[in-house]
Amino acid sequence: MPSPRRAFLFDRMLGRLCTKMRMLGYDAALNPEGETGRFLLNAARAGRVAVTRSRSLGDRPGPRPVVLRAEDVLDQIVELFAALGEPPRLEPFTRCLECNAVLVERSAGEARGRVPPHVGETFAEYRGCPVCGRVYWKGTHWNAMAAEVRRIEERLKTT
Ligand SMILES: [Zn+2]
Repeated sequence: MPSPRRAFLFDRMLGRLCTKMRMLGYDAALNPEGETGRFLLNAARAGRVAVTRSRSLGDRPGPRPVVLRAEDVLDQIVELFAALGEPPRLEPFTRCLECNAVLVERSAGEARGRVPPHVGETFAEYRGCPVCGRVYWKGTHWNAMAAEVRRIEERLKTT
């Protein structure tokens, strides 16, 4: 049986990386605002891998966070998987980019009223977030993200 997929807690400097990891299907949370001092504790309590760019956090006692050096978000993804020392298991477009909830299939009827009218007339398949209500469809934005996922997969293959 494969080991359970990792869940992450990102410090607030890594908001973009957090969103990208959600796009790739990982359980990725952002440390709450105003809880900077409790970042490592929050991660430990939630059973999440703490990820930061702050070198000083790596020196504290207790569970060690993953400390990234890269500034570019794609480089950060590569660096993060390398630090984990395990192959990535991507499940793109299965989580809400806004709130991290697992998406569910939505019919065109269910999506109606939640998407612009021209979208409702064009697309038959949707995924929706049961928590924040956001609806996703395979439009221009989705295609751009799919291209980005392919770029990430290529990068991860060659490293
Ligand atoms: Zn959501």
